[in-house]
Amino acid sequence: MKKYIFVTGGVVSSLGKGIAAASIGRLLESHGLKVTIAKFDPYINVDPGTMSPYQHGEVFVLDDGAETDLDLGHYERFISTKLNQDNNVTTGKIYSSVISKERRGDYLGKTVQVVPHLTNEIKERILKVVHDDSANICIVEIGGTIGDIESLPFLEAIRQFQFDVGRKNVLYVHLTLIPYIQASGELKTKPTQRTVSDLRAIGIQPDIILCRTEHELNEEIRQKISLFCNVESTAVFQAKDVKSIYEVPLMLHEQALDDFLIRKLGLKSNRIHISQWAKFVKSVYYPRNRVEVALVGKYVELHDAYKSIEEAFIHAGAFNHVQVQTRWIDSEEIEKKGVQLLKNVSGILVPGGFGDRGIEGKIQVIKYARERKIPFFGICLGMQCAVIEFSRNVAQLKLANSGEFDPDTPYEVISMMEDQLKIQSLGGTMRLGSYPCKLEKGSKSWAAYQKPLIHERHRHRYEFNNTYRDVLKSKGLELIGLSPDGKLVEIIEIKNHPWFVGVQFHPELKSRPLNPHPLFKSFIGASRKYALKNQISSSAVLKGIRVKK
Ligand code: GLN
Repeated sequence: MKKYIFVTGGVVSSLGKGIAAASIGRLLESHGLKVTIAKFDPYINVDPGTMSPYQHGEVFVLDDGAETDLDLGHYERFISTKLNQDNNVTTGKIYSSVISKERRGDYLGKTVQVVPHLTNEIKERILKVVHDDSANICIVEIGGTIGDIESLPFLEAIRQFQFDVGRKNVLYVHLTLIPYIQASGELKTKPTQRTVSDLRAIGIQPDIILCRTEHELNEEIRQKISLFCNVESTAVFQAKDVKSIYEVPLMLHEQALDDFLIRKLGLKSNRIHISQWAKFVKSVYYPRNRVEVALVGKYVELHDAYKSIEEAFIHAGAFNHVQVQTRWIDSEEIEKKGVQLLKNVSGILVPGGFGDRGIEGKIQVIKYARERKIPFFGICLGMQCAVIEFSRNVAQLKLANSGEFDPDTPYEVISMMEDQLKIQSLGGTMRLGSYPCKLEKGSKSWAAYQKPLIHERHRHRYEFNNTYRDVLKSKGLELIGLSPDGKLVEIIEIKNHPWFVGVQFHPELKSRPLNPHPLFKSFIGASRKYALKNQISSSAVLKGIRVKK
């Protein structure tokens, strides 16, 4: 029998429901159980692919090409199950499907309504998450906060769901905030009482109250929450603020939340395997050293836009026993203030992006990294900018550019390829999802991956223009990774540089705590070496994490 855990949130947004859901998943997986996680988002966009990073942060791309919410990134980093497009459902998807069924006449002349038609569609989508998957536990996070108008159909659907599959197969977890009032020195339960009361008014009695709090919940507070929220006091768990999200599963395990879940759902635990995870968290908390890496992008004031890169730095940092400190640099600032903003960094990463704002700043940064022999990692747009920089400054193709930024450039070294146009006419507008890539031996990339064929995720419209292969190669640009048919350039490197790699794909999407991405491991390793060689001090303390002396 499949089991379902629904995670809702109350009081305020941004409490970390995604991390809570992912941590529960991790814990259950540590007991040998097979878990999958889905996010049901109440917004009307069909997917976040069209939203600005300012609205939504990063778009997380899955192997099948689905453009999803960044919480799916957390899920994939915390559990081992591969997710697909069914794991992210939005109101937009639900309505599109219901409306096309209505147009086809599937509802046999009935008036189509929120209940039961929309709610049935939602419930079918919940069942679909586990049907195509061998997982026996499905965690569903409901986006938004209790009290939002738009999440009501989802809440109604999960309320009904308990009767469809049996109450004992369903568990409701509600994440709330217990604010601390500085003036009186007290933790307050009233907002939690209110949100649980709202949830119960909809017909959902939570089984677990998970409390975000800055301070330890004492017995009296737990009793109060238990009394007013109609749960056993043993069902009140705390999620105290921690320095790393990766500590959350350990913190919940200490409170035996996993045992509670297993007992309530009538599951059978195999032995718990959490020591590897704990070891990883320890290496995050006690690095031997620190390296500072510049991330030069367009949305740097909004770190969520580069979430997976930040996480990949953490994974690769733990592997290399260093803490990676990111220096966030706006590429337009480089245009105004110059490359002095890069002083004393030990590595430079130019991430993906769209549009021409800040491009010239990125190109300046890449020139600096190439000439000063600072480890450089170009991702997607970052790789395209590296090709432009090399074309202009090494191959002397002045005014070389991407067709995206200057359609009239005399040297369109990055362009929309024929293959791409074909993909476009099939309806998609980007190369999305996992594609294979063949690697050349003897390269930095080969040394990192140690295998001839890799699979990485893409999200872009433009490609390296093959017309320029020979001229750029003759000047020292190495085309290290190609699509198996040889038509698409996926990885570039340059000779005589300690570490200069540009990739057309997004490696950050596949980095995991216990399996850091090979290129990130190698890039951070090279940055560490650079810092040592150039005696760049690493003494600053960041976010209270202490470097072991
Ligand atoms: N704008 C570029 C393209 O569409 C790069 C996209 C990206 O970096 N994800 O090809």
